[in-house]
Amino acid sequence: MGRQSAVDVPKSPTLSASQLATLAGRGEERTADVGDVLYRVGDRHYPFIAIAEGEVAIVDAAGNEIVRHGAARFLGELNLLSGQTVFVTAVVTQTLHYIAVDPDALRSLLFEDGALSDLLLSTFIARREALQRVQGLGLEIMGPRSSEATMRMVEFARSNRLPFVWRDADRVVPLVRLPGGTELDGPSTGHVWRALGIGRELAPREMVDLLVVGGGPAGLGAAVYGASEGLETLVIESTALGGQAGSSRRIENYLGFPAGITGNELTGRAITQARKFGARPTMPYRAVSLEPGDGRHLVRLDSGQEIVASAVLLATGARYRRLPVDGLADYEGISVFYAAGPPEAQLCGASRVGVIGGGNSAGQAAIWLARGGALVTLLHRRADLRETMSDYLVRDLERYGVAVRDRSEIAALHGNDGQLEAVTLASGERQPFSFLFLFLGARPCTDWLGDVIARDADGFILTGHDARAANLLETSVPGVFAAGDVRSGSTKRCATAVGEGAMAVQFVHARLAAAP
Ligand SMILES: Cc1cc2nc3c(=O)[nH]c(=O)nc-3n(C[C@H](O)[C@H](O)[C@H](O)COP(=O)(O)OP(=O)(O)OC[C@H]3O[C@@H](n4cnc5c(N)ncnc54)[C@H](O)[C@@H]3O)c2cc1C
Repeated sequence: MGRQSAVDVPKSPTLSASQLATLAGRGEERTADVGDVLYRVGDRHYPFIAIAEGEVAIVDAAGNEIVRHGAARFLGELNLLSGQTVFVTAVVTQTLHYIAVDPDALRSLLFEDGALSDLLLSTFIARREALQRVQGLGLEIMGPRSSEATMRMVEFARSNRLPFVWRDADRVVPLVRLPGGTELDGPSTGHVWRALGIGRELAPREMVDLLVVGGGPAGLGAAVYGASEGLETLVIESTALGGQAGSSRRIENYLGFPAGITGNELTGRAITQARKFGARPTMPYRAVSLEPGDGRHLVRLDSGQEIVASAVLLATGARYRRLPVDGLADYEGISVFYAAGPPEAQLCGASRVGVIGGGNSAGQAAIWLARGGALVTLLHRRADLRETMSDYLVRDLERYGVAVRDRSEIAALHGNDGQLEAVTLASGERQPFSFLFLFLGARPCTDWLGDVIARDADGFILTGHDARAANLLETSVPGVFAAGDVRSGSTKRCATAVGEGAMAVQFVHARLAAAP
């Protein structure tokens, strides 16, 4: 076995004797000898493993050790639930007695045993975050920064929290090497997703009761309530299930989580919950048109499939605004980002970082980066940050040493080869930032709807009275509803989006009941 990884991958918490007994009741007791491989990089399936006695090392494809687990601990991470290809290899280092539980059996156990579910899910999520920081793990994406297809693939991997390495190679289309060595030449994101074993292919024509377009909190809220109340529910997501909320470092104001919860964990749990009730969250599929019909509506996807649905919920949220400066695209994904996650925090440690924006998401990112060791300056346009940011975050900025610059705007970027070296502010002052994080608000993802649905001047979807509709969340087209950030006048918050998604389901029931 090679060198030890520099990244601190959390060991699992210990399982109690009764938890080990519960797992033994659902699985199979097995033994393995020193040197045996329990699963390896690229495997499509592996069981959940709880260690009764002995020890296992987790290593990367090159044999470098990442972490070791001993008695009463367990192996596995998020791919046990998603079915995604394995990123690491597990090698026995001390004679092993273990319990192997099939992923399907594990999934049903998680629904029944809340305490075990909390323990396993939070560990799986923490491990995935740690694996994202291990160098050389996961997908290898090879292609130049100048290629839009390459950068789309890099962004796709990043937003779906897939461990990946990007190599700046001189190629016309990106080459993607999967864990295990399979190479895909110029693949679509959907191709990579399914090659990793995640998600099912949709049929050319699907018929459902409720089609939810957008897999953020609003869409997932609707999926949980729709499916649990007997509606055949399909969720179409173009980029990453979890939506914007999935990229939030810590949501402090979501009811029931007094200590806060990461967006990743909140939305990861919601996806599992939606699946549990039989909803089908699928991705990456982008809705490109909506054709209203009499009682049935047709939505076409970019990959050619058609979905016929008795009711459609539009929950496509909004997309980040970009900075109006020259050459921005050269830096995006390398030193300019729209979300601050573990890979970015690691990249920025001990560097000078600018966070641009006056909203809560900018505040959260600034604090997260400062806690990761970056020297953070938050720049915003107004005179007083309290006009736009919650008080508790303003206090935390001070606590974590984030410098705040009022009335500041970026006028130019300076750097080489995508690596930022400095920015010039509108005042003419130069700031030596190596990284920028932009949180400038968002535009609704509604262009694909054209004139089919009535929208406000900024493109947000009108509902209820404003759309001359029968109820609060119905749009100008009967049977088509909107919820969450995409809805004109909505409160742009996670809890509101979830609540609206759930509420929309009641209106869907009423509409279906009234249908001939
Ligand atoms: C960094 C950050 C931190 C935040 N922190 C907090 C917080 O602490 N507390 C809080 O309450 N709120 C927070 N928010 C706001 C909160 O995340 C949003 O209000 C919430 O995510 C809105 O949910 P939504 O489902 O309406 O939209 P989104 O989360 O935007 O989801 C919409 C989804 O639709 C998909 N989509 C778009 N177009 C299409 C298409 N044509 N076909 C298929 N899919 C499509 C998108 O890819 C996206 O995944 C934060 C936001 C950000 C960005």
